[in-house]
Amino acid sequence: MAEKTLWGHPKGLYVLFFTEMWERFSYYGMRAILILYLTAKTSEINPGLGWDKVSALELYGWYTMMVYVMSVPGGLLADRLLGQKKTVMLGGFLLCIGHIVLAFDAVWAFYTGIVLIVLGVGALKPNISTMVGGLYKQGDIKRDSAFTIFYIGINIGAFIAPLLVGYVGEVINWHYGFGLAGIGMLLGQLVYIWGQKYLKDVGNFVPVERIKGSSEKVKLTAIEKDRMVVLILSFIIVIVFWGAYEQAGGLMNLYARDKIDRVMFGFTVPTSFLQALHAFYVIIIGVPIAYFWTQWRNKGKEDSSLFKMGVGTVITGFGFLLLAAAAIETSTSLDGKASIYWMLGAYFLHVVGELSISPVALSFITKLAPVKYASFMMGAYFMVSGLGNKVAGWIGEAAQDAGEYTIFMSVFAFCVAFGLLLIIFVKKLKKLTHGADTVQALPI
Ligand code: GLN
Repeated sequence: MAEKTLWGHPKGLYVLFFTEMWERFSYYGMRAILILYLTAKTSEINPGLGWDKVSALELYGWYTMMVYVMSVPGGLLADRLLGQKKTVMLGGFLLCIGHIVLAFDAVWAFYTGIVLIVLGVGALKPNISTMVGGLYKQGDIKRDSAFTIFYIGINIGAFIAPLLVGYVGEVINWHYGFGLAGIGMLLGQLVYIWGQKYLKDVGNFVPVERIKGSSEKVKLTAIEKDRMVVLILSFIIVIVFWGAYEQAGGLMNLYARDKIDRVMFGFTVPTSFLQALHAFYVIIIGVPIAYFWTQWRNKGKEDSSLFKMGVGTVITGFGFLLLAAAAIETSTSLDGKASIYWMLGAYFLHVVGELSISPVALSFITKLAPVKYASFMMGAYFMVSGLGNKVAGWIGEAAQDAGEYTIFMSVFAFCVAFGLLLIIFVKKLKKLTHGADTVQALPI
């Protein structure tokens, strides 16, 4: 491509990187204080809405699911009407307004803000991800590494947000916290507007009849159909993975609070700090893991996206084995608590798994989805990951009766079984991709 590059990637990638980094900053920042604001008493110096825990958790569950469910109409809007680039712009505006409205201290403002954010994330998140893929040609070796870079941007935002927005919101004033999240989003939108010059060839609306190789308006070709089938099958592993991984905010969070000895080097680690660990690990090991997979490919070994996703799910499963070991320690130790190192190890393995699944899946979708459904399929992926979040919630509830040891062992067995199943069928499933997942050495 004749586009301007920086460090081997089109400059547009860095525009999308910073836009998404700030968008995630606003999303995770607001998310970090949402439940605290809802449940804070109205009589406190920094007053909240005074809700009970159950109602607050319920709203939180709906909210975190809806942002991803709205990715489906967000994707459709891009495919059918606006193209990805304009839909991201629209989403960004909705998010800016939503966050600014939340900074006002009024109940109407709260609901309006939440709705605008749900709509904004739905419009922005799937389409900005599809645009990353759009910067690369079919078969370009750089596509996967671009998604790793993009994913690190996501996690820089996700890491600093709970610390900054969390501090300002919790210690000073909730609405200042929401306002700070909004400033982050404004910066993201400014980067995006400024960076339009680097995004000329990507994310534009393409009417169906003008898409190469698609003479029929609605019908898919046999190859496109096969690719859709394999994408939809891969969504099963996506639910299994996120269902396990997203125990972090719920079950694992409560477990860390109640049953883990959180003293390290003489300091007691606040439970909520562990919530920043995922993002921290992604930033640290994102590049090494991508490098590992490149070396693996260079050795001529199996490196299809589905294979990586299978391996990632197995590794995530082993994280739960560490947690099961922690559960054994709690039942035998005198104070009924287990070492924090189990937890640190479990989160580490979960992130090793995540990096072999999440950025890989984003890239995989942009390679496989027929052009006319590109954004829709990306939206569907986020919706499915949203369902994974819900599954995680159910598993957490089940643990209240079954006990943690049983649940941790079950999740371990489930992840390993599903991961291995995928690995066993990789060759067959790969045929259905018709070479779309194969990297070609392109002339530079
Ligand atoms: N943590 C990632 C993000 O915020 C992935 C989210 C997901 O796929 N559900 O973008």
